[in-house]
Amino acid sequence: MKYFSLNHNSKSTLFHDAVKRGLAPDRGLYFPETIPQLPQSFFDNIEKMSIPEMAYRVIKPYVGNQILKEKLMEIVSETLDFDFPIIEITDNIAALELFQGPTLAFKDVGARFMARSLGHLNQGSKDKITVLVATSGDTGGAVANGFLGVEGVNVVILYPKGKVSEIQEKQLTTLGQNITALEVDGVFDDCQEMVKTAFLDTGLSSINLTSANSINVARWLPQMFYYFIAYRALKSKNKKLVFSVPSGNFGNICAGIIGQQMGLPIDHFIASTNVNDAVPRFLETGTYDPIPTIQTISNAMDVGNPSNFVRIQKIFNNDVVKMKKILSGFRYTDQQTKKALKEIYDLKSYIADPHGAVGYLGLKEYLEQQNEDFYGVFLETAHPVKFLDSVNKTLKLEVEIPERLKDTLSKEKTSIPIKDYSELKSYLLN
Ligand SMILES: *Cc1c(COP(=O)(O)O)cnc(C)c1O
Repeated sequence: MKYFSLNHNSKSTLFHDAVKRGLAPDRGLYFPETIPQLPQSFFDNIEKMSIPEMAYRVIKPYVGNQILKEKLMEIVSETLDFDFPIIEITDNIAALELFQGPTLAFKDVGARFMARSLGHLNQGSKDKITVLVATSGDTGGAVANGFLGVEGVNVVILYPKGKVSEIQEKQLTTLGQNITALEVDGVFDDCQEMVKTAFLDTGLSSINLTSANSINVARWLPQMFYYFIAYRALKSKNKKLVFSVPSGNFGNICAGIIGQQMGLPIDHFIASTNVNDAVPRFLETGTYDPIPTIQTISNAMDVGNPSNFVRIQKIFNNDVVKMKKILSGFRYTDQQTKKALKEIYDLKSYIADPHGAVGYLGLKEYLEQQNEDFYGVFLETAHPVKFLDSVNKTLKLEVEIPERLKDTLSKEKTSIPIKDYSELKSYLLN
């Protein structure tokens, strides 16, 4: 498989190089030259395969021969080494819990896959790699955890000061070793812009920089696994499936749509957002008009200008009509999100997190518009404990803190404050 740049001014390249670079030299996102098709027999027999076997077959064409079969199987097994429970909320609505990994967020899957792939591909190379990553909350912790102790790789995380939860901050500032956290005086989009500028900066060409945001194909593509895992579990229901994805940078939903284009039987996707609603507005008006980031209680989705939107456009060859057949979008305020948290709790005593609650709202709104009998799944992208303040206050209860998190919370924060790009650059050069 080769990857080309969506800016069309760089050469196509193979998996290893695309992962090492993150962004193409022309600053474009990499996109696979073809979307592989899985045979009908794959779906007929999906429940007979183990999850790692299934995931191996899904990801194999994207990796090509650059990682040998046994190694790739090992990487996939380790990546998916936890549960993905499906919790029924009503007769036709369920939550897919993606937060059972080490940092309690769905980003663990992409981060673990990327760390293991890059660590393996870079083995024996003299070149040290620096992974530069901007986080709106959960990416930093997942990437830090995935890459901790990986030889030959340093990780530098940029996060917006005061705009991530206490638990999120601790997860990315307490690990040490090859992980450094930079605390940026700004919002997430400032962090993301600095990362993009660093990639372009010829003054940094002595450093091998890559990204571990969902712009990196090794972080982005494995997110497809969730949808295959859910289909495998729900196939026997014999219902048409709809997925509602709480979306920020749109990597997760875009990976799901790629899975569908490979043949996975999913009827419809719903992009559920908070008031950072560039994509729902695009679906309504046909004009893409991003606005500056607005802070919300679902902070991992506080993204004004989602990076992966260009990939979604590519999937549908910029045809909005085609896109709308597969994708709908809805946006919700914090007020509505809190109401949804209560509603879900009242229905099933289920404690959702604010992101999952946004997903639930989008799903409900879509299902109410349909005359058909769908089965709807909303993704629970983070453990509610990561958003303790808003969940506890809204539901008037105390979410129990899992053991593995208590340890992280007791550790001392270490971060380096930075104000602008020049400070980032001098940090990287020293
Ligand atoms: C990152 C994140 C999202 C948004 O995912 P994208 O792939 O960026 O759209 C949603 N919920 C949580 C909890 C997240 O951490």
